[in-house]
Amino acid sequence: MENKIVADKTIKAWKKEHPLLNKIIATREVFWVNPNYGKFKDAIKKISLSKKDVEDAQKRLKRFAPFIAEVFPETRKKDGIIESPVILIPEMKKKIQELFSQDIFGDLLLKCDGHLAVSGSIKARGGIYEVLKHAENLAVKKNIITLKDNYSIMATEKFKNFFSGYSIAVGSTGNLGLSIGIIGAQLGFKVYVHMSSDAKKWKKDLLRDKDVTIIEYDSDYNQAVEHGRKQALADPMMHFIDDENSHDLFLGYAVAACRLKNQLNKLSFTVDENHPLFVYLPCGVGGGPGGICFGLKLIFKDNVHCFFAEPTHSPCMLLGLMTLQHDKISVQDFGIDNNTKADGLAVGRPSAFVGKTLRNLISGIYTVEDDLLYILLKHLCDTENIFMEPSAIAGIPGPVQLLQSAEGKKYLRENDLNHKMKKAVHIIWGTGGSMVPPDIMDKYKERGQYLSKR
Ligand SMILES: *Cc1c(COP(=O)(O)O)cnc(C)c1O
Repeated sequence: MENKIVADKTIKAWKKEHPLLNKIIATREVFWVNPNYGKFKDAIKKISLSKKDVEDAQKRLKRFAPFIAEVFPETRKKDGIIESPVILIPEMKKKIQELFSQDIFGDLLLKCDGHLAVSGSIKARGGIYEVLKHAENLAVKKNIITLKDNYSIMATEKFKNFFSGYSIAVGSTGNLGLSIGIIGAQLGFKVYVHMSSDAKKWKKDLLRDKDVTIIEYDSDYNQAVEHGRKQALADPMMHFIDDENSHDLFLGYAVAACRLKNQLNKLSFTVDENHPLFVYLPCGVGGGPGGICFGLKLIFKDNVHCFFAEPTHSPCMLLGLMTLQHDKISVQDFGIDNNTKADGLAVGRPSAFVGKTLRNLISGIYTVEDDLLYILLKHLCDTENIFMEPSAIAGIPGPVQLLQSAEGKKYLRENDLNHKMKKAVHIIWGTGGSMVPPDIMDKYKERGQYLSKR
């Protein structure tokens, strides 16, 4: 293994350059601070996407709001805007402090993306946005709608018939397929979801009920994506949702940031030079956390610090950013198995687009063991009565890791943050879970119960 060549270098040489690799390869929990993290004003100059692109996405979602309200009645109380609450979790905060013997300075909030309408996960942001944009493009081109129309007409048979002449393909570990399948089928598209071996049966069953075609694989996420890409290339009427490279997905996620700013204002939380904001985002291929990080940076600039969370067995973005090889390397190249119960994060090769775009904007990445995810899942149920899936839990250990690890402490010191921590706001991004069937959620809790007693 030591002499195996990965991206033109032996593993031994990689380890010498990045000693943290020893722990990463041994699948132990690590906290990594990004040495290329830099000032926003310099970083943004190297990025082709801008605030205008995010605003454009926000406006598009507003145009679609009447359609969303029409076809998904549960969104009517928010006028067809799909958004999740952000809440204080004081009881869970106490529990975390007790479990890790660590005071968490500042306020601890949970962003409840599991409660997003339509598909119950963070994918209701990017995934739905890209399908809507595609639908709009097709309809505008055919002159059957203008940007000034009330988009609720897209719920009519005429539009369903029109969209049924087109198809959509996507590769997924489950939740992206769920989002694309639900919104795609609702509009009338033929949808093909290429599911990796990690995908849960209930997600596939739910989609089959909606006449979505599921193609199953024995292999992991990147393979499923590859097959989806090939299928779409061969068919001019098919649009491929490219989770690894899509700017539209990324911008759909980024819209979360402006809405979060309004939510924090309403709750009277300030983010400025003296009130830093820390955000902890579970990361799979990178699009979801990446888009949100980008949106947050555009708004809060150097006053927001974004940390990504990955399973110890799937640290793909960590390897990609640490070595700067991005999608040229996979966790498997380093002998890591990409076997995790956090199915939404079970990705072995990261998005190069996200890694390159956010190279100077991500503060750091930490890893979490699966067992800890179950334990925290159980405690979140017990303390706050909130149910999230294992992947969505990965953000929870973030504040402790930041405050307790040597690397985290160094980050706080070097960024002159220590004296501001009492006024800090920590947001754990809870990325999914409300659609998990109750019997499966009970199993997750039982597992957490069992593990917390050991
Ligand atoms: C997909 C997913 C993520 C991560 O998003 P990526 O875009 O793959 O990085 C996190 N949590 C849940 C529940 C997800 O489904």
